[in-house]
Amino acid sequence: MIIVPLGVASATPTATRHLPSVALWREGTICLFDCGENTQMRMLQAGLKRSKVDFIFLTHFDVDHYSGLIGLLSTLQLQRRETPLTITGPKGIKKYVEWNFKFAETELTFKVNYVELEEDFEGGKVVDEEEFYVEARPMKHTKFCVGYRFQEKDKPGKVNAEKAEAKGITEDWQFKDLKAGKDVELDDGTVVVSHDIVGHPRPGDSFAYITDTSYHPNAVKLAMNTNILLHEATFSESLADKAEETGHSTSLDAARVANEAQTKLLVITHFSARYTNPFVLLREARKDFFPAWLATELRPIFTDPAHEKGIIQPKVYLKEIDGKSSDDKSSRGKKSDSKKKRFRKRKNYKSKSSDSYNNRKKSDSNRDRSSRSSDRRRKDNRDEGTERKPRPITPRTPFDDFDRF
Ligand SMILES: [Zn+2]
Repeated sequence: MIIVPLGVASATPTATRHLPSVALWREGTICLFDCGENTQMRMLQAGLKRSKVDFIFLTHFDVDHYSGLIGLLSTLQLQRRETPLTITGPKGIKKYVEWNFKFAETELTFKVNYVELEEDFEGGKVVDEEEFYVEARPMKHTKFCVGYRFQEKDKPGKVNAEKAEAKGITEDWQFKDLKAGKDVELDDGTVVVSHDIVGHPRPGDSFAYITDTSYHPNAVKLAMNTNILLHEATFSESLADKAEETGHSTSLDAARVANEAQTKLLVITHFSARYTNPFVLLREARKDFFPAWLATELRPIFTDPAHEKGIIQPKVYLKEIDGKSSDDKSSRGKKSDSKKKRFRKRKNYKSKSSDSYNNRKKSDSNRDRSSRSSDRRRKDNRDEGTERKPRPITPRTPFDDFDRF
C-alpha cells in the first residue's frame, strides 16, 4: 500500500501547497480521499494514472475538500472510461454530481455508484471488497464530517510446500483449497488439514484519514493499530482555542490520537497557510509521538518499502527535507561546485517564504524584528536547551486574513 499526499493545505492553497487530497495506491488501483481543486493535476505530477481511480471518499462538504471532483470526473469522461466508480460522502453528493453533468448536458460514459452517509450516521463499513474494506465514522467539525479507515483483509498464511507434497498434495486446486482454509480429501480417503500446511494469516495493512475535526474518540477508533495515520494538524498548540472554535486539531491533538490508537506512523497534514514552515507543527507533534512525519506533497509513503519503492515515480522535482533535490541524493559527495551553489541553503527563514517581494521591501525593519523574535525564541527555549526554532508564524501578504482560517 502506498500513500501519496496530493495536497496538504487547509482552506486556501498557497504558492507551494494544494488543497486537500491523498491517494492510496494498492495493487494497481487507487482510492482517493478528498478531492480538492488541482487533485487531477497533482495525480499526473505524482505519476498516478487518473484512470486507475476506483473509489473516491469525501470527508465533508467544505468546498476545498471536493472542489476537484467535477474536473476529475470530466477528465475520466473524456478518456471514455467504462469501469464503474464508487463515490462515498455525506448525503447530497449524488445530487451535486448529477446536477453538474446535467447542467453541462453531459452523460457520463461510466456508472457511478454512490454511498451516501446521513447526518445521523454512527459509523460502519461503507465499502466492502474482496481484499479490503473501508470504514467511516463521524468526526467533530463545524458541519457533518467523517473520517475513514482503509483496511486490507488478512492475507492467507504461507503454504509449506514440502510438507504438502509429503502428504500427497500435488494439484493446483488442492493448494488453492488449502490456502483458502479448506481441508482436502485425497483419493485414498485421507484428509489433509489446511492449518497443518498453511501458516497463520498475515494481518493486512491499514490506513486512517482523519481530517477536519477536533479531538474525538472516533478518530482513535478509526486509527487503532494502523500502519499509517494521516491526521490533520491545522494549528500549533498556541492556537488551541482557534482549533477548538473552528473544529480542527492541533499537532498535539494529532499526536494524542496517534498515541491512543498506537498507530505505527503518524503523518500530519492540512496545515494552516500561516505556517510557512510546517516543521514547527512537526516538532510539536514529535514531543508526544514518534515516528511522526510531515505529509509532503507527491512524496510517497510506503507500508512495505522493500517492495514498493520505485513503483510510483513523481514526474516533477521534489524537494528533500534538507533542501536538496531528490536527484542530488545519488550524487551526494561528488557534487560539482556549480550544483552546490544552486542548492545552497538560504540563510534566513524569512527568505524561504513565497513573499520575497515583501521581504525585500521590509528587509530593514526585519533586521530589528528578527533580533526581537530571536530574543523571544531564546525565551521559549528556556526549557529545551539550545535547540534552535524557526520563526513560527510568518504572515505572507496583508490580504491573508488569518482570523478566518
Ligand atoms: Zn479542511
